[in-house]
Amino acid sequence: MTPAPARREPGPCIISVAITGSVPQKADNPAVPISVSEQIESTHEAYEAGAALVHVHVRGDQGEPSSDPERFRAVQGGVQRHCPDMIIQFSTGGRGRALAERGSMLYLRPDMASLATGSVNFPNSVYENPPDFIELLANELRKYSVKPEIEIFDLAMLYNAQRLVAAGLVDAPLHVQFVLGLKNALPARRSVLDFMVRELAEVLPGASWTAAGVGRHQLTVNHWALELGGHCRTGLEDNVRFDERRLATSNAELVLRVRQLAEERGREVATAAQARRLLDLRAAEGARA
Ligand code: ZN
Repeated sequence: MTPAPARREPGPCIISVAITGSVPQKADNPAVPISVSEQIESTHEAYEAGAALVHVHVRGDQGEPSSDPERFRAVQGGVQRHCPDMIIQFSTGGRGRALAERGSMLYLRPDMASLATGSVNFPNSVYENPPDFIELLANELRKYSVKPEIEIFDLAMLYNAQRLVAAGLVDAPLHVQFVLGLKNALPARRSVLDFMVRELAEVLPGASWTAAGVGRHQLTVNHWALELGGHCRTGLEDNVRFDERRLATSNAELVLRVRQLAEERGREVATAAQARRLLDLRAAEGARA
C-alpha cells in the first residue's frame, strides 16, 4: 500500500509591516510615521507586536516621497539598534520617484528590496517598470547581495519573475508578494489568489509568498494568506483604518490584529530569526557568529 502523501503543515507565518507609504494618503492618518524618528519608533512597536520584517519608504521634510539615501541609512541604523535581527526591506517602488533614483540606496545593503516585474496602472498613475529597468534593478540587487521581494501587481509579473530566474538575473528560491485590491490592478478575489498560489508552485517551485490587501481588503487578505499557508503583510502604507468606524492608531495595532488572527488559526508567528531562515537570508549584522 502506498502511503498517503504527507500533508504539509504550514510553517510559521511571517508578519511584514509596511509602516509608511510613498505618497501622502488622501484620508491622512496622523499615526502614519513620517520623520525618521517616528519611523524608527513605529517599527519598534510593530516589532514588539510580532512583525519580523519592515518595508520602508522614506519621506522628505514636507512629507513628500524621497529617495534620499541618508534617510534610508538613518532608518536602517535605528531599526538595527532597536529591533535586533528584524528584516529590513527597502522599497524601490516609486510613485513620485524617478526611475534612476529608485535603486540609489541599495548600496546600503538592506536585507531585502522590492522588485516589481512589470508595469501596471495604479489608482491615478502608471507604475512604470520597463523591461530594461527591471533588469538594471535586478543587477543592482545582485551586486549588493540584496534579496528581492518580487511584487506581483498583475498576473504577467509572475511569469516575468520566472524569466528573470531562467535568465540568471535573480536566484531561486524567490520570495514574492501578491498585492490585491489596488484599484486598476488585481482585485481582492479569493479565486485570484488561489490561482496565483497554484501557478507559483508550478512555475517557481520552492518560492515563498506573502499577500497584501489594500485598504478595506487588508484583513480579508490576511485571512486568506493564513489559510493558504502564506505570509501576511499589514501596516499603514496599505490601509489607514482599523475598521469602518475608526482610523488605526498605530502600525503595531494592525500587526497585533494579524498576530491574533494567526494564533486563532493555529499558525505560529515567526520571530525575526525564524523569518530569516524561512527567507534564506543571512543572519543580522552583529548576530553573525
Ligand atoms: Zn511600499
